[in-house]
Amino acid sequence: MDVKSMVLLFSGGVDSTTLLALCQKNGYDVFPLYINYGQRACRLEEEAVRKLGQHYGVCVKRAAVPIPAFLNESQMINGEEEIPSIEDEEQAFAKEFVPHRNLFLLTLAAMYAHSLGISTVGLGVYSGSVLRYSDCTLEFLQKAQETIAVSSGNSAISIYAPFVHMDKENITKVAADLDVPIDTTVSCNMGVHKPCGVCSSCMERRRVLERIGGAGNG
Ligand SMILES: [Zn+2]
Repeated sequence: MDVKSMVLLFSGGVDSTTLLALCQKNGYDVFPLYINYGQRACRLEEEAVRKLGQHYGVCVKRAAVPIPAFLNESQMINGEEEIPSIEDEEQAFAKEFVPHRNLFLLTLAAMYAHSLGISTVGLGVYSGSVLRYSDCTLEFLQKAQETIAVSSGNSAISIYAPFVHMDKENITKVAADLDVPIDTTVSCNMGVHKPCGVCSSCMERRRVLERIGGAGNG
């Protein structure tokens, strides 16, 4: 069989884990990349990434590339252990936004892909974020793909984001169909030692799992 290869931005969340499972099913040799950019939930994510890497038999490349402190206005990367008070999901989205994050992560993934001679980069962004996060849209992904191709010396690079028009509920159903170990995934933006239960990701995860009748760790 012709083996296709892909670098996958992998966080240990439901979305990127489902994409990993989907790509393996479709015959891809997946090279997951985990970036610790100073996010509050990195300890939780790294534990999930370790377990999920074993589950899927993949070697996860890890890199620590901290975002400088001038962006610490985002509560997703402030270093304090106390969970900030959050009143509702809308407010949580606004407080957690990290400007330029997906372009930053895609650039790092493209560098890793370049080093491996791979021309496809996958990421699990989805449309549930579109209204709030401009770097989760198809328009952003198309422009990022063009820019990254030029910045790499015009080599062909394609960004694979098949969930971009899906919502969290649909992705979670795909995850269930693919037997993704959802309880091992972590979708929290703020928890330092355990899922916080109050960030936008925790709220969305709880809402979706309640609706489709699944379990969850927060
Ligand atoms: Zn949380």
